[in-house]
Amino acid sequence: MTNGRIVKVAGPLIVAENMADSKMYDVVKVSREGLIGEIIELRGDKASIQVYEETSGLGVGEEVVSTGEPLSVELAPGLIESIFDGIQRPLVKMRDLSGGRIGRGLQVDSLDHERKWEFLPTKKVGDLVKAGDVLGVVEENSLIKHKILVPYGVEGKIISVESGKKTIVEEIAVIETKDDKRSVRMLQKWPVRRARPIKEKLSPYMPMVTGQRVIDTLFPVAKGGVAAVPGPFGSGKTVVQHQLAKWADADIIVYIGCGERGNEMTDVLNEFPSLIDPKSGEPLMKRTVLIANTSDMPVAAREASIYTGITIAEYFRDMGYNVAIMADSTSRWAEALREMSGRLEEMPGEEGYPAYLSSRLAEFYERAGMVKVLGTEDVSGSITAIGAVSPPGGDLSEPVSQATLRIVKVFWGLSAQLAYKRHFPAVDWLTSYSLYSDRLNEWFDANVDADWETQRAAAMRILQEEASLDEIVRLVGMDALSQEDRLTMETAKSIREDYLHQNAFHEVDTYASLKKQHKMLRLILLSDELGREALAERVDIEDILALPVREEIGRSKYIPESEMEKFDLIEENLKQSMAALISEGEI
Ligand code: ADP
Repeated sequence: MTNGRIVKVAGPLIVAENMADSKMYDVVKVSREGLIGEIIELRGDKASIQVYEETSGLGVGEEVVSTGEPLSVELAPGLIESIFDGIQRPLVKMRDLSGGRIGRGLQVDSLDHERKWEFLPTKKVGDLVKAGDVLGVVEENSLIKHKILVPYGVEGKIISVESGKKTIVEEIAVIETKDDKRSVRMLQKWPVRRARPIKEKLSPYMPMVTGQRVIDTLFPVAKGGVAAVPGPFGSGKTVVQHQLAKWADADIIVYIGCGERGNEMTDVLNEFPSLIDPKSGEPLMKRTVLIANTSDMPVAAREASIYTGITIAEYFRDMGYNVAIMADSTSRWAEALREMSGRLEEMPGEEGYPAYLSSRLAEFYERAGMVKVLGTEDVSGSITAIGAVSPPGGDLSEPVSQATLRIVKVFWGLSAQLAYKRHFPAVDWLTSYSLYSDRLNEWFDANVDADWETQRAAAMRILQEEASLDEIVRLVGMDALSQEDRLTMETAKSIREDYLHQNAFHEVDTYASLKKQHKMLRLILLSDELGREALAERVDIEDILALPVREEIGRSKYIPESEMEKFDLIEENLKQSMAALISEGEI
């Protein structure tokens, strides 16, 4: 293959001629420094190449060599706890090698090729296996059993398999296929822009439980679902993300950070590693992979990062794990796309974004889902994708937010106004939605309580009634309301303050199981129902509101999961106090 030559350098984009032998999306090495780039347009023998490293100093005439391979990631033990850049270069190692800023043209393996891992086969000589079957496991750390899968395209009989300490590039097994003998090692490579194959996509049917009441009860996301969360500054986006990472019932977390300013990413790099996994008491990093694009990295790497992230997520899904992937923020990613498109001199669409913005976003989110993974056995795994959007000025009518909202099925609308009132999590119940609700209600009704759906609907109705009553109160004052409407207002307040408000930093309140969520909401709604009965019996609203049991209901969020019987005591107390009010009135 002949080498190409640079004919033009435009920031992160270069154009090279004499590239007719290469293919779209081939990775190339640019100049003698060997900078990594990827072909993103081919016209005749001219290739446009996005370069993942600083291009200053590159000149016309320097050579470009195609590797003939697409941009790929390394998949093997060592992924967990790693921090990578957008094209899976290990950040810590690169910083160590080049000191401070990342040097150009550094050749570093994504994963450690020398470290030895204890490989324990689960298959034996003579077993018939096919792609996706588990050959054996490596205990990557105390939390994660890394399953070593038969690579894609391989099917046959195991003729050797060895346990013991191995590096990821050593042979661990040999499989006799129809045509030849395939040596299998732990390390697999996969091109990031291609979804890893599956047996079948399933429709999501169970929630990804987060322990956050406003999410699980009002706007649940399915395991394998897709959600978006906008993050106006100071609206509590970081805390929401940390809560999800800590508490969501996902085995593995993949976090892709596309920061605008350098310090945003530095925050993530400092904060994430210090988070503790509440379920194990160990660092959360022990089940996390971080991908970070700091602002000193070229935009092209940011464009690649979400593909790198989702490919790693798919790899763990293929082991049968439930993976949660968070991309923060997809707006920054889209800006990278816009910049590259501009340099390619493509016809700009709305606000300068390329016309393919929506389809690229959709391609990313489509790789989420609940699936049956490859392999002989019936195993399912899931990827739940949560994308943050950060529209300039919080205006959701801009193209990236609009394209995102057309794809995702859950929207958690963080509101700066609620955050200002210190109502956290600041998820606005009037603008947020979950299109999974109907389907998940069946699961909730069957697995938590048969009236989950009824309760949820009642809570939503009361919150909406409050919004319209608020209008009246603003115009004519509270006195104009009937006693029934006042009760509605009080119940709505209780739903907001006692139920939806949840303190991430309170030992007990930080997480509520579905059972607890159900019991809490039941108390609030029962109190409303009994209150209405009392009003019908001419009890005065003030007497109802003065009942001491209301305080207990307000504090029920602090009841630990281990003392659930306390809810029954409060319920008993509530019924008795209301009955007493009614009979007092009758005397
Ligand atoms: P953002 O990332 O949107 O700028 P943060 O997530 O850092 O905002 O939140 C800002 C502040 O709001 C936090 O430092 C914290 O004091 C408060 N906060 C946010 N969410 C919660 C929560 N669920 N419980 C208690 N406090 C919260």
